[in-house]
Amino acid sequence: MTPQPPTSSSSTSGMHELLEQLETLEKTANLRSSIDDVQNAIDLLTTARANLAAEPQSAPLTLAKLQDPLKRNLEQAQKDLKPIYSGLNKYGKALDKKFKDKPLPSASNDALSSHPQLINRAIAMHLLRGGEFAVASTFVQEASRNPPHPEPTPSTPNPALEDSWEKELAEDALNSEKLQEQFEEMYHILDELRKKKNLAPAIAWARQRSDVLEARGSNLEFELCRLQFACYYVGHRPPSDDVMEDSDANSDSTAPGPMEAWAYARREFTTFQRRYSREVRQLMGAMAYWSNITESPYSRYFYNDYAWEDVATSFTREFCSLLGLSADSPLYIAATAGAIALPHLLKLQSIMEKTRTEWTTQNELPVEIPLPPSYHFHSIFVCPVSKEQSTDKNPPVMMPCGHVIATESLQRLSKGGRFKCPYCPGESHPREAVKVFL
Ligand SMILES: [Zn+2]
Repeated sequence: MTPQPPTSSSSTSGMHELLEQLETLEKTANLRSSIDDVQNAIDLLTTARANLAAEPQSAPLTLAKLQDPLKRNLEQAQKDLKPIYSGLNKYGKALDKKFKDKPLPSASNDALSSHPQLINRAIAMHLLRGGEFAVASTFVQEASRNPPHPEPTPSTPNPALEDSWEKELAEDALNSEKLQEQFEEMYHILDELRKKKNLAPAIAWARQRSDVLEARGSNLEFELCRLQFACYYVGHRPPSDDVMEDSDANSDSTAPGPMEAWAYARREFTTFQRRYSREVRQLMGAMAYWSNITESPYSRYFYNDYAWEDVATSFTREFCSLLGLSADSPLYIAATAGAIALPHLLKLQSIMEKTRTEWTTQNELPVEIPLPPSYHFHSIFVCPVSKEQSTDKNPPVMMPCGHVIATESLQRLSKGGRFKCPYCPGESHPREAVKVFL
């Protein structure tokens, strides 16, 4: 193995090696052949048992005949396990090389030990919404057999006090067979979309919830129907057994292609006329280009590789939000954000050790973590006077001049009487300041 030069590229090449090893594991070093080997052995033994039961007098012969094949079979099983051992070994080495043994930041701000029920709930929900129903059910069974014990932490010294509502919240999610049924429906519809390119179940789902979706400002139903129109236009028909009944009767009489799309639009787009008149007109305009649609300005509606994934993502988002859930698993988001934050926190810890300072605030991180924009969920306010992030107890307030500072800063500056804004000549009284909600 060649030693890696200590450049910035070493981390990416380490990652590359890791992915390579993972690919090897998935391709060759899997248990597929071992499972076959074991199944063969079971087959040999069950056949021999049946023979023994049927003809007890031929027992010595049956057993003698069994010996060699069974031995060969077990040897093969041993042989097939070898690439798995070596694959795992190499993968372990690649992991060690990529993730050098670094200590984790010490958890003086442990916020998790006092809420084990909520953590179990988050794990169960993550598995459920990921479609891992069997794993989720085993996890829930084992978690309820061995209920976790909350431990006191600096911010939650008496976790038992919060026990009851947490327990209720956790059990609510854990016992929810209904939730599992709903996610099963979601995965069925997603499978039809992604694997079979069949829009019918998704359209049916959206149509049933038209009012709620429209109230949310969702475009899902139109997006799905627009893609259906494009499918008809380019001659792609959904699998016939899954076609919705109403369109089945009509589409059979029309030849596939633009005319079928036209018939579909006349039948289905009337409800969209008001809200999407521009988009519908554009789609109708595409009819004029039926002979050379790929060179027309409309081609992006008809030859868009991302369209299926786009509608699948929209569908997942709407489905989850109607259940009151975010589109991405909160556990996944928290773990990813944590992984991004870890190097920064490690660096911070080493600086704090050198300068002998301490991290005093419980409600905010002492450094800014560069999270991607999709991980920004709400705005924060940092007081320009105290440089502290606002909290529920110390909310931002706006003075009549329009400048905003934290409540505590206002109290300190005004001392209860009239005072001058630190940022402009405006003068005001603390009672004239209004609380700002972010
Ligand atoms: Zn001002």
